[in-house]
Amino acid sequence: MLKKELAVFTFGDLLEQYPFRYVDRTKVNLISEITYETDFAQIAAVLVNFDTVGQRGGKRIVAQVKDKSGFLELTWFQGLSWVEKLLEVGQSYLIYGRVTFYNGQPQIVHPELEVLSAPQPLGKSFLEPVYSTTEKLKARGLGGRQIGKLTQLLMGMVQEKDVPENLPQSVVEQLQLISRFQAYRQIHLPQTTDEYEEAVKRIKFEELFIAQLRMNLLRSHRHRFSKGVVFDKVGDFFNDFFKNHLPFELTGAQKRVIKEIRNDTAKGKQMNRLLQGDVGSGKTIVAVLVMLLAIDNNYQACLMAPTEILAQQHFKTLSSLLAKINVPVKLLTGSVKVAERRKILKELEEGTLKILIGTHAVIEDVVKFNNLGIVIIDEQHRFGVAQRAKLWQKASIPPHVLVMTATPIPRTLAMTAYGDLDYSVIDELPPGRQPITTVHRYESQRSKVMDFIRAEIDKGRQAYIIFPLIEESATLDYENLMQGYENVKGYFPEPNFWISMVHGRQPAGQKELNMKRFVDYDTQIMVSTTVIEVGVDVPNASVMVIESTEKFGLSQLHQLRGRVGRGAEKSYCILLSGSKLGNDARQRIKTMVETSNGFEIAEKDLELRGPGDIQGTRQSGELNFKLASIVQDRPMLEIARNVAAKLLDDDPDLVSADNLRLKTFLNHKKGAVAWSKIS
Ligand code: ADP
Ligand code: MG
Repeated sequence: MLKKELAVFTFGDLLEQYPFRYVDRTKVNLISEITYETDFAQIAAVLVNFDTVGQRGGKRIVAQVKDKSGFLELTWFQGLSWVEKLLEVGQSYLIYGRVTFYNGQPQIVHPELEVLSAPQPLGKSFLEPVYSTTEKLKARGLGGRQIGKLTQLLMGMVQEKDVPENLPQSVVEQLQLISRFQAYRQIHLPQTTDEYEEAVKRIKFEELFIAQLRMNLLRSHRHRFSKGVVFDKVGDFFNDFFKNHLPFELTGAQKRVIKEIRNDTAKGKQMNRLLQGDVGSGKTIVAVLVMLLAIDNNYQACLMAPTEILAQQHFKTLSSLLAKINVPVKLLTGSVKVAERRKILKELEEGTLKILIGTHAVIEDVVKFNNLGIVIIDEQHRFGVAQRAKLWQKASIPPHVLVMTATPIPRTLAMTAYGDLDYSVIDELPPGRQPITTVHRYESQRSKVMDFIRAEIDKGRQAYIIFPLIEESATLDYENLMQGYENVKGYFPEPNFWISMVHGRQPAGQKELNMKRFVDYDTQIMVSTTVIEVGVDVPNASVMVIESTEKFGLSQLHQLRGRVGRGAEKSYCILLSGSKLGNDARQRIKTMVETSNGFEIAEKDLELRGPGDIQGTRQSGELNFKLASIVQDRPMLEIARNVAAKLLDDDPDLVSADNLRLKTFLNHKKGAVAWSKIS
């Protein structure tokens, strides 16, 4: 149970389940103190009533609690049977969670809830640690507090020799860190705030330092030892395409990047390169040319996309481009039929198929290449080092890897998640693009917005109207979308106007058809959820309206906005929102209105969302620090990076006496196998 829910396998793992916060029972907020500015609140209140409402997917428990200052609503969407057992009208609870507003009323969704009885101090600690748990574990009696007891029981048995120091003495001294053992003690049972802070400093530094060291080791090993396939000639495919079929003149930045890649792939070392380029900067054509370079040198090439829609879009673009020079391209995704799949696998293994496009399906073990020379990974966020490593095992000499990203990555993130890569950037948009005008409007101004859309449609343009649909199963969002669609139809009735609608619950065929109608200009308006976030390219679309903007993250908004402004026409992005906005939402909207620079937006996004969300949504293993935060701990990250770089400069193979324990640690720690294989 612990294994499945928290990935706790060993005692060591349990010790590394650090408390995620400490209850300070003296700090309780009054309900009346909650404002739109409030992020988190801890409330002591009595349960007034509760009820299960809604059907199936939308089923939830709604409860009312009150303290002497007012009422607050609590909502649960999951673990309903467990929550029901915990709730008892008239009982007092200590309630903690993130405050959100619904219809102007504050509420907490999935609060932490604890029956408020006389405080029961755990150990002698002045701060009571609170441990993460899951609804399932709670249902089996393993709540946060029980995990705490287990951990502290274990901590009582652990001795210094069980938790040996792993950092070199010189580093420990330089940064004035407490020992590893001491840190474990003090994080689980802090006697004073100072002890707690020392422990946090030590653990955070270790996390960041080890991660930096690993990245640096990977990069330097690759530079020193890796063998790479050699692309030393530019042949007929590349030249024919470049001279006769290039659909436009390349920008300076595109040319430079292609040159960087050509240099890199000709040296006999494996290339591992991150290519950053904002939405619409033209990364696809770079990928095409690089793949032609590969096949000119008799190697196969593979392009991977994170979603089926994006893979299909690439497949379409590339098949039509490459048909001109008679290079066959095939698509491999989870939904490719067995017979076709078998054929593709055979052609790949025999080497007759040179270019493969696909989703994650291409990294499955059954997919074997004859002589894979390069892998290009588009929109890489969901691809970590481990997945890339899996690709490398597909050939005796590891193929070159080019990772392309449209969501610019802030420097701190880049050096953490992709510190093992070399780096190129397309910092120039294709000519003729006009800046997109972005404005914020309240829902009360909707009819004016619709008038504006009508005027653009009358000029021959097309418009997107995007609704949030966070989860396929979010019934409320779905109803909202349907209602929105009816509403748009009211403004734009047939037969003068035609509307496409695309959402995640449609069968793939219907989705395709509706997209195609919009692409072919059979419809003027596309009502959609974020399924179109990546993928569609309709240069004639000049308006992007985003409904309930407050529900979207910044980088998502930036991606959505990137769907317009792709042609020569002036484009607009209209951010619609409710009238009451939380602090974060206000800042996100402000940022969008003020800048279209993807790098600035990425920095702001990271700052606003914090590492929690990044870990949650990106699930990139390299960012999974238990305590450190690449946002809040930026200064420490810089230090860790510098210390790691210096250490490896002085002792690249970690052979000095002081560094030996570090080396041992790196080799024994989880994931060590994959790391050493990579080098
Ligand atoms: P992204 O970097 O977002 O993947 P794409 O490769 O999809 O961008 O290119 C965006 C659009 O710009 C496409 O319609 C593409 O054909 C066009 N494009 C790319 N490079 C150029 C260029 N050098 N000149 C003109 N148009 C270009
Ligand atoms: Mg792209």
